[in-house]
Amino acid sequence: MSAIGHKLRKTKGGLMFFCPACNTAHGISLGRNGWQWNNSEDKPTFTPSLYSVAGDLKCHCFVRDGRIEYLSDSTHEFRGKSVDIPDWSFHSEV
Ligand SMILES: [Zn+2]
Repeated sequence: MSAIGHKLRKTKGGLMFFCPACNTAHGISLGRNGWQWNNSEDKPTFTPSLYSVAGDLKCHCFVRDGRIEYLSDSTHEFRGKSVDIPDWSFHSEV
């Protein structure tokens, strides 16, 4: 895993960003059958939306211009809100 800017990390087939609602990272695969990325490090946009399920926690969001826009069908307290993608807050890559 390597850094791209302050907000993203590169993984094998894609990228990761930190989701403050789930308090974990969400991975995005790029390329064929994956998401589209606007190639911006600091104001990334991914399409289509992301949907992540971990047990009872559902997280559905758009990432646009460096902001995470949580949709109202998410089950966490950030639903319906939008926040800046936080700076990467894991230290495991050191
Ligand atoms: Zn999330």
